[in-house]
Amino acid sequence: MSERYQQFFRRSIEDKEAFWAEQAEDIYWHRRWDRVLDYDRPPFSRWFVGGETNTCYNCVDRHLEARGDQNAIVWISTEVNKTETLTYRQLHEQVNRYAAVLAAQGLVKGDRVIIYLPMIPEALVAMLACLRLGAIHSVVFGGFAPANLAARIDDARPRLMITADSGMRNGKPVPYKPLVDQAIELSKSPPEKVLLIDRGLDPELNWVDGRDLDLPALAAAGDGAAVEPVWVESSDPSYILYTSGTTGSPKGVQRDTGGHLVALQASMKHIYACQPGETYWATSDIGWVVGHSYIVYAPLLNGMTTIVYEGTPLNPDPGIWWKIVAEQQVNVMFSAPTAVRILRKHDPKYMQQHDLSSLRTLFLAGEPLDAPSYHWIQDNLKDVTVLDHYWQTESGWPILSNCAGVELEPVKPGSPTFPVYGWDMSVVEHGTGKIMGDGEKGVLVAKPPLPPGALSTVWGDDQRFLESYYGHFPEQFYYTGDYAIRDSDGYYFVLGRADEVINVAGHRLGTREIEEAISGHPAVAEVAAVGVKDEVKGQAVVAVVVLKNDVTLSDEEISAAIKKQVDEQVGPIARPREVHVVAGLPKTRSGKVIRRAIIAMAEGRDAGDLSTLEDQSTIEEIKKAITRQ
Ligand code: AMP
Repeated sequence: MSERYQQFFRRSIEDKEAFWAEQAEDIYWHRRWDRVLDYDRPPFSRWFVGGETNTCYNCVDRHLEARGDQNAIVWISTEVNKTETLTYRQLHEQVNRYAAVLAAQGLVKGDRVIIYLPMIPEALVAMLACLRLGAIHSVVFGGFAPANLAARIDDARPRLMITADSGMRNGKPVPYKPLVDQAIELSKSPPEKVLLIDRGLDPELNWVDGRDLDLPALAAAGDGAAVEPVWVESSDPSYILYTSGTTGSPKGVQRDTGGHLVALQASMKHIYACQPGETYWATSDIGWVVGHSYIVYAPLLNGMTTIVYEGTPLNPDPGIWWKIVAEQQVNVMFSAPTAVRILRKHDPKYMQQHDLSSLRTLFLAGEPLDAPSYHWIQDNLKDVTVLDHYWQTESGWPILSNCAGVELEPVKPGSPTFPVYGWDMSVVEHGTGKIMGDGEKGVLVAKPPLPPGALSTVWGDDQRFLESYYGHFPEQFYYTGDYAIRDSDGYYFVLGRADEVINVAGHRLGTREIEEAISGHPAVAEVAAVGVKDEVKGQAVVAVVVLKNDVTLSDEEISAAIKKQVDEQVGPIARPREVHVVAGLPKTRSGKVIRRAIIAMAEGRDAGDLSTLEDQSTIEEIKKAITRQ
């Protein structure tokens, strides 16, 4: 670790109040805080107590003078073949119009609004308009099934919902409105009004009399509306975001206002090393935390142009992302390992056709970035620095990263590098909380108080917050739920979720180690390794692999080669009992592999709740592959 980063980091832990007070100077406060940190009721922390600010003001109004004519949003849809831009001035006008519509519906500070929209610029406008009024938004990923949406409605108890007639996927409309209608039907605390954006994609769009309102028409009627930002206290909630892909009742991560702004603004400087006026592109969706933080709030806070993309990485061809980077002169990009693995199935010529000289850094997060995928993308993006970093919905911004804005550290493939300033991380033993030595596997934890921007609590359920995140060790540690190792140079390696460890005859194996070995085989594009019940060994490894497009080996040859590879790289104890070749892995809509579905198939059980599953056919295919054996 460089001397420079070491000092920067140490100060953030040992002199945290002074450190964060300095960072807080970079945002606008209507009223300055009285206390930097209130930690009187551990593990709950409140940052910049007594300070008053407004997220929308900081993201939009603050830039009008210096960059009113600069693009704030560039929307590109390869689904409907349209591009639209909004300058900061136009964004300001549009947000005011939307805020006026919401205020006319009686929306006030603290009210909740559920936003269920596709990747269109109106989604960002709606989010900002809520926060302008001090209302709390909860964005639900478009396309979630009615039952999931209803559970979120019941938990958030929104006054209003904002939705559209339809999303688009691979050139086909995916109607949203019928799902909203069904969810409201199922819900115990339905919203009073539904504000609807009709994109003209669903000829059968159904308007409910007296409940559904035409949002763009109302906004246009209030042309020139000016709505003063409502100043809120720093720890007032800005949004609720439900965590992805889990079972049980939805868990609403609650984010504060002031701490969130300070953390995101600081991250643009110290982690992403971005300048105002530059262009940032996060390829995620506004329904996920990456979308909240790095499509919407952080780039706008930092006076940048943010790219909002409606489309897939493969349409019209696997070069589309790089074409956009070249055309829009993207400087910093943020994507996920799953996207890299999807692109890796295709010829790298698609990347090389475009002039990528504007692009400095590509950040990746969301899952472990296996070394072979890292090398593939880094080798093909020669002049771009590819950096893995690790975080969660709960943290709201990175926990482990190479902080390019402080000092770019040497990259170790497979490692998201060091703890980020503000995060006091350790690897500890499961159960006891004993600190592990270098090179020893344990659970990744953070010592509270967590830095600004991390979740304040679980919406409406402090007890659940305490149990889920602080109930795992005798000492109070924030539990990330991930296994990790720190090496003797201080680099962290995240091995996957603690509940995904495979126990073969008493040996605890991380799914990550096995997947890494398999993914190193030149024929393999993607892999998921899971532990399934085995009468002899307790658990056995089952691997499901997706091959690159041009592979000609038979399934038997692949299976033998993979078993050999695991024998050599991890050890025969980890050798998969079965290897299945499939066309695609079962993933959530946010791109995470649903391992429990594969386990259930392999054990001949029902897979349970699969409402976050992206593609049903992946499950059918695995089921067939397994029964064929
Ligand atoms: P979510 O809250 O849905 O964004 O998921 C967070 C989880 O994704 C983490 O707890 C990790 O299991 C995983 N994750 C995110 N980033 C990384 C990374 N860079 N390396 C390994 N796992 C990651």
